[in-house]
Amino acid sequence: MNSKIIKTNQNYTYDILKNDLLFLNYEFPFFKINNIGKSTLGEKIAFIKLGEGNKKLFINSAHHANEWMTSLVTMMFIEKYLNLYKNKEMYKGYDIKELWNKVSVFFIPMVNPDGVNLCLKNKKIISQNLYKEIWQEYENKLENWKANIRGVDLNLNYPAGWEQAVKNKRKKGITKPGPRDYAGPNAVSEIETKNMIEFTQVFDFDMTISLHSQGKEIYWSYLNHKIEKAYDIGKKLEKVSGYVLTEPDYYSSFAGYKDWFIENFKKPAFTIEIGKGEDGLSLPLEKAEETYEEVEEILLKAIEECQYL
Ligand SMILES: [Zn+2]
Repeated sequence: MNSKIIKTNQNYTYDILKNDLLFLNYEFPFFKINNIGKSTLGEKIAFIKLGEGNKKLFINSAHHANEWMTSLVTMMFIEKYLNLYKNKEMYKGYDIKELWNKVSVFFIPMVNPDGVNLCLKNKKIISQNLYKEIWQEYENKLENWKANIRGVDLNLNYPAGWEQAVKNKRKKGITKPGPRDYAGPNAVSEIETKNMIEFTQVFDFDMTISLHSQGKEIYWSYLNHKIEKAYDIGKKLEKVSGYVLTEPDYYSSFAGYKDWFIENFKKPAFTIEIGKGEDGLSLPLEKAEETYEEVEEILLKAIEECQYL
C-alpha cells in the first residue's frame, strides 16, 4: 500500500495519531473529527465516522497500550477507505460507494492514549510525577505496558462478569495496579471505560470490532451467548484473512468490551487479535504492512456484512 499520510516508519504515539487525523481531514474535509471525552490525563479520545448508512459498525483499537499497532493499521485503513470513496472505486470486489451509503463506520483508533504514551515513553509522561508511583517499578519494561496510566487493564474493566475477572486474575497473583491484568477497584472505575460505554449506548451499534494484538485469531462469543449471525460473519472474516475463528479460554472470558457489548445488546461483537510476532511484545513496525493487508480484508468484509444486519 502506498500510504501518503499514514507512515509506518515510527512507533505510533498519540501525538502522531492526532496529527495524522488533522492531515487526513485536510485532505478529505468531508468527515469530522470528534471525541468521546477525555482520558485520565486529559487527552481527547478521538472518534470519526465514515459513511452515511443506517447500519452502524464500531471499530475500536488500542484498549491495550502495547498494542498500538492496532491504532496504526486502523489509521491506514481509514486513509485507504477515504481514498477509495473519494475516487468512487470498486476495490477487491467491494463496491465502496454502496458500502459508504449503507453503513456508517465509527472508529476510535486509540482508546487508551495515556497508556500508549507511557508504553512509548512519551517525555511529557515520564518527566512528571503524576501516577509515577504506579509505573516506576516497571520503568525498564514499559514497552510491555498494557494498562491505562492508572495501571488498570481497560479490557478487564467492563461490567460483564467483572467479579469473575478479578477472581481469575487474583489466582494468578494480580492484586494491584500494574502493567497488565488488574481489573480495577470496581467495574467502570476508569474514565476511558466509562466514555466507551456511554458512547456505545448513544449510538446503538449493529456490530462492533475491537482490534487487539496478537495471534491471528477472531473471538466472537461471550460465555454461552453465542449469536448465530456472529458465528456466520466470523466464518467469513476467517475466510478472507486466514485468521482462526475461536472461543476464549475461561480465564480470559470476562469484563472485556466485546463481552459487555454481547451481553447487553445481543448483537455481533468481535475481538480480533491481529498479526503475529513475539509473545508478549508489541508487533514491530516491520510487521505493519503485512498486518495491514490482513486487517484491510477483515474490515471491508465486516462493513459489507454489517449492511445486512
Ligand atoms: Zn489486547
